Amino acid sequence: MGAAGQGLFGLSEPGENGRGVIVPPEYQEESRKLFQRNRFNQWASDRISLHRSLPDARILECSSLKYPIHKLPQTSVIIVFHNEAWSTLLRTVHSVLDRSPPELLREIILVDDSSDHEELHSTLEKYVAKLSKVKIVRNKAREGLIRSRLNGFAHATSPTVTFLDAHCEANVGWLEPLLYRIMQNRTIVVCPEIDVISDETFEYTYSSGNVRGSFNWNLNFRWKAVPEYENKRRAARTDGIRSPTMAGGLFTIHSQYFKDIGLYDKQMEIWGGENLELSFRIWQCGGQLEIIPCSHVGHVFRKSQPYSFPKGTGETLSKNLQRVAEVWMDGYKRYFYKRQPHLKGHPFGDISKRLELRKKLKCKNFDWYIKNVVPEIFLPNSSIIARGELRNPASGDCIDSLGAGEHAYIGIYKCHKQMGNQYLVYTKNEEIIVDDNCFDYANSQPSSKVKMLDCHSMKGNQQWLHTKVGISHMRHAPTGWCLDRGKEQFVVLNPCNNGPSQKWLFSEYVERDKAPQI
Ligand code: UDP
Ligand code: MN
Repeated sequence: MGAAGQGLFGLSEPGENGRGVIVPPEYQEESRKLFQRNRFNQWASDRISLHRSLPDARILECSSLKYPIHKLPQTSVIIVFHNEAWSTLLRTVHSVLDRSPPELLREIILVDDSSDHEELHSTLEKYVAKLSKVKIVRNKAREGLIRSRLNGFAHATSPTVTFLDAHCEANVGWLEPLLYRIMQNRTIVVCPEIDVISDETFEYTYSSGNVRGSFNWNLNFRWKAVPEYENKRRAARTDGIRSPTMAGGLFTIHSQYFKDIGLYDKQMEIWGGENLELSFRIWQCGGQLEIIPCSHVGHVFRKSQPYSFPKGTGETLSKNLQRVAEVWMDGYKRYFYKRQPHLKGHPFGDISKRLELRKKLKCKNFDWYIKNVVPEIFLPNSSIIARGELRNPASGDCIDSLGAGEHAYIGIYKCHKQMGNQYLVYTKNEEIIVDDNCFDYANSQPSSKVKMLDCHSMKGNQQWLHTKVGISHMRHAPTGWCLDRGKEQFVVLNPCNNGPSQKWLFSEYVERDKAPQI
């Protein structure tokens, strides 16, 4: 596991071999301002070479695979950006130039989605003029990432295209395995393993590779452990992992196949939902989606977005997600609308072209997708005995996933009656489910936070006793302790005391023997 790419020279420089950068106290003020501008630590990024070395932690089998370079299709790398920081944008570009076999890289197309940062205009043009393969395409107005990628695609000239976000670092040997898989079958859309570049320090962490893409019924993208059946299906550890969904920013697709299956939904705006739309479409219309374990690319995951949504964040995202649900999900869209009741009747634009496309391509229905591509997904079906918000009447606060997924702590927030992150389900199996994960307490001490974990249906740490009549406590079966509002943003478990901070009520109860079939 050496520092790959740049040899050993300069290994003590900031950020080399994927190391993080710590901001000294005298620069913290400046760094905070830059963080606000990009929602990542630009100060740290600016200290790191645009050609920094990265840890290459591929499994041995990967490093020894040989690819027929001269037979592989070329690719055009498309990077869209709106006000990206100079150092992250250019490090993305250089990592691709430095780590792609020149014969496979036709061009890099930078698509400027109407940025107003000064240095992204003539300075960027001058810089890029010296890099022979890099072109810039500029949108006349802000289009959002979906139409920006399509604009880049219209300028691409190779048989495959590779989309990357503007804050990535391609690792050693990243491109060959992606192109090889498409050469074998052009209807397979491929994603690299996405390594994490810390938004705080820019440390590069090599990912373990045992997760794949899924989603919850709020239509948020979610990472999930690769199920046993998928690992059994794969003959070798280097084989692609079938993935129900893609994260969205990083993938390679055959150009003609991308056209054949209908590119993107042009009426989706700014950010969000397009990754699920493309994922469902690929699977339902006869293609496949895989994560290729031998290809690694780092990405800076941000906790919030630095850019504006001209029509409002909620409005834009809701419309995008409704279009996904309305075009592809058939009857399953009711699970989405249950969690987003305020969206019933909310306009989502004209979807007739997308429905026509679905018909023309003779795509399978969503029930087929669920049963064949992601059979392990949580379905809120017959076992429900209570649902809706789970309120602590004394404080007027409700359990809230706070938008986080598996492994996060269970949060609490002012009740907002919008369901979404406050939509819970209490099952006949005595599990409490939020964000499609179960409440789980594995601590032997009281006063600790409760976690969201994958539901295992074995009761144990996920069994909670609750009844509407009498004292509406929520008692954790193994410890006998009660769910407590606590004082912070997260609920805790405390010895039961019958106090107001331990009383809980769902907005809807169903008689145990009349559990509904939704
Ligand atoms: N982007 C864009 N126009 C927009 C919003 C985003 O060009 O209106 C770009 C953004 O600069 C980034 C990519 O689209 O390169 C994906 O956005 P982001 O990184 O914010 O998404 P995330 O990785 O957080 O899902
Ligand atoms: Mn991104």
